[in-house]
Amino acid sequence: MKIAFIGLGNMGAPMAHNLLKAGHALTVFDLNTQAVGALVEAGATAAASPKEAAAGAETVITMLPAAAHVRHVLTAEDGVLAGIAKGVPIIDSSTIDPASAKALAALAAEHGNPFVDAPVSGGTGGAAAGTLTFMVGGSAAAFEQVRPVLSAMGKNLVHCGDTGAGQGAKICNNLVLGITMAGVAEAMSLGEALGIDPKVLGGIINTSTGRCWSSDTYNPFPGVIETAPSSRGYTGGFGTDLMLKDLGLAGDAAKSVRQPVYLGALAQQLYQTVSSKGDGKLDFSAVIKLYRKDGAA
Ligand code: NAD
Repeated sequence: MKIAFIGLGNMGAPMAHNLLKAGHALTVFDLNTQAVGALVEAGATAAASPKEAAAGAETVITMLPAAAHVRHVLTAEDGVLAGIAKGVPIIDSSTIDPASAKALAALAAEHGNPFVDAPVSGGTGGAAAGTLTFMVGGSAAAFEQVRPVLSAMGKNLVHCGDTGAGQGAKICNNLVLGITMAGVAEAMSLGEALGIDPKVLGGIINTSTGRCWSSDTYNPFPGVIETAPSSRGYTGGFGTDLMLKDLGLAGDAAKSVRQPVYLGALAQQLYQTVSSKGDGKLDFSAVIKLYRKDGAA
């Protein structure tokens, strides 16, 4: 299949690689020319704009930071909707608010294009391994239409409901994630201050009731999990600013249905502090810097 892929960051790049590995023909676009170069080396074709990428594509995928980027990439003069053929589905895997997803789906529908929100969970490791969970919002027909493409990048494809439902599910998941990471950072730092070997404590938590993804896959204490971003200077993971965005989305969604998110609000302030100190680009596990005695990480 001919696929246009726009947004080749920490997640998009490995997802695009998996589509190439599955035998799809890929046309790619990103503002970062280095990211484009790496995909071209692997066999993709570079496009000069989202419009050019979408021309001739049988599916278009976007994996961008936030709703404003997705809206721009779809609707700009040289955007996807200017180049795409009628009937070609658009898959947005970025994490954005459900209302924007619905608005973009309506715009796509006006152009005669099905649109699904298909945010993912699984981190950069899951993206590289092709084991992502896709939370899909859209019609049942659109879900079936995009299933073969998604299955080259993920192993758990869930139809959550109508447009926006995938984003709703993703926001709830990341609310848990933001809170558990802060919790693990707090506990690991307390353990360090009490003189417990972080590796021993990490091992105990990971075989006990405190175990979670934030402890056993992305443990924030350097050296506890060798493949975690904390063990490579908090790079190549899920940016603090992206987690901050997601907790903002959770707060907005909660407000719209008058639902309290006490811990989410507190967690949001923690990541905001990390970001205000200039560490917004670091993996969100860098929240541990707020806890360790000398701000070490
Ligand atoms: P990233 O910042 O690493 O990558 C975003 C890419 O989009 C960059 O390469 C950037 O150059 C590109 N970009 C920005 N504006 C553009 C434009 N106008 N045109 C073309 N390209 C543009 O982000 P990421 O970590 O890959 O995350 C992407 C999305 O996936 C976000 O919405 C994030 O919340 C979500 N997400 C991330 C993770 C993770 O672990 N990193 C996990 C699940 C979901």
